[in-house]
Amino acid sequence: MTEPQPFATPILAGARRHVVVVGAGIVGASTAWHLAKRGFDVTLLDRETPRAISDGASGGNAGLLSIGHYPLTRPGVSMRGLKWMFSRTAPLYIKPRLDRELVEWLWNFHLHCNKRHLDRCMEVLCAMGWQTLDVLEGIIADEAIECDYARDGWLDVVMKPENMAHAEAEAKSLERFGYRWERIDGDELRRRDPCFKAEVAGAIHMKDSAHCAPNDLIAGLIRALPKHGVALRFDATVKSFRKMPSGKVTGVVLESGETIAADAVVLCAGVWSDALGRLAGVKIPMQGARGYHLQFDYPDEDAPPSPSTGMVLHETFVAVTPMLRDGKRQLRLAGTLEIGPLDQPWMRERLGMLLKGTHAYLEGLDRLKPASEWAGYRPCTSDGMPAIGGVRAKPGLFVATGHAMMGMTLGPVTGKAMAQIVAGEKPCFDVSMLDPARF
Ligand SMILES: Cc1cc2nc3c(=O)[nH]c(=O)nc-3n(C[C@H](O)[C@H](O)[C@H](O)COP(=O)(O)OP(=O)(O)OC[C@H]3O[C@@H](n4cnc5c(N)ncnc54)[C@H](O)[C@@H]3O)c2cc1C
Repeated sequence: MTEPQPFATPILAGARRHVVVVGAGIVGASTAWHLAKRGFDVTLLDRETPRAISDGASGGNAGLLSIGHYPLTRPGVSMRGLKWMFSRTAPLYIKPRLDRELVEWLWNFHLHCNKRHLDRCMEVLCAMGWQTLDVLEGIIADEAIECDYARDGWLDVVMKPENMAHAEAEAKSLERFGYRWERIDGDELRRRDPCFKAEVAGAIHMKDSAHCAPNDLIAGLIRALPKHGVALRFDATVKSFRKMPSGKVTGVVLESGETIAADAVVLCAGVWSDALGRLAGVKIPMQGARGYHLQFDYPDEDAPPSPSTGMVLHETFVAVTPMLRDGKRQLRLAGTLEIGPLDQPWMRERLGMLLKGTHAYLEGLDRLKPASEWAGYRPCTSDGMPAIGGVRAKPGLFVATGHAMMGMTLGPVTGKAMAQIVAGEKPCFDVSMLDPARF
């Protein structure tokens, strides 16, 4: 890891200062928690109700806290994406449309799908990843949040014997970043976890990660914030920013017309951060990559064996996570990546892909009781990396967004770094590559 850069944007030292955080997903809620712990007066705003927030991306995701996860920008991904472009049932589907923003985003994405960029990304992502679980465990312990958290790694589950070598090579490539892994062959896998069908060839156990019930984590974190003095404002849609003629951002204006003054504003609005940022004069080009989940309850009788840990199915890319919620055992199947305009009707065939993509691996899926269906957006920048830091040209404005498929994992450490940056301290990882003004 390179040395953290001295922070060149405005520093808020001294007496108590008021910070408005926009967006109460995992990134915004973590930021608010860390800011409050540092003695700031914090207002956390969200346009939704707490219930709807926990039904958003930070609640509906797969709940895998998979440190060491590669970014989307990997060699070959852009070409594979183009090939899949016209197939509604491809794992990565890009809805074809004539849209300049999309074309620019895709071109920039393509330029970043190379080994050199990947290596640079991994330096930063691993520095974040190695800290984030400790940060999260600190929050969970301090606030006694019940979210079925377990630091038990995740499994890359492989169906075809010929794919074991590929899975093993991927795990091996993470060794240089310190990640531990183990190869488990099929029979041993079934001995440890009888949920797997006889056809499954084996798995790679990535040992350093964790999983949780994300809806309960985000709900518990938001519930804890008022105890630390954070003012929560729901149904509060930010419509624009309060600005000085110099460009300095001094607060936000809500849709209701109310103005909330602040010494700093931190933009953590997920996939909506780009549109909001532009109102303040900062561009963070993002595509919302929609994904889906299907959730099942285990029946009281004749229940099939539940997996003991989270996993990703190697051939179908479906994430499968066991969750204990309200004392009930549940199973969540999550995944698929669909790039298109926001708020379009669901592509229901993609829910079918989750089911079909899991059936071949797990015993007794047909005996589970459907509980819920969900869709939400991953905020994806074109270089695969989050945008974290102050906006030099807009003093008073800070940004933390663009975590794509890794937001639940990296949200907690992002919140810590963001609070450090706002306080004028050196952030706990090197943010120089994550400058929000880099686009
Ligand atoms: C299917 C799927 C599976 C995933 N699995 C995982 C996983 O296993 N592990 C992992 O690490 N990540 C996973 N992710 C990614 C993760 O869910 C996201 O990266 C993360 O939730 C993003 O968090 P956020 O706080 O940036 O944004 P969000 O959770 O989207 O929060 C943004 C908030 O901003 C609010 N907002 C927006 N506009 C305004 C406005 N104008 N005024 C006020 N408020 C506003 C919104 O209401 C929202 O509550 C998955 C995502 C999907 C879709």
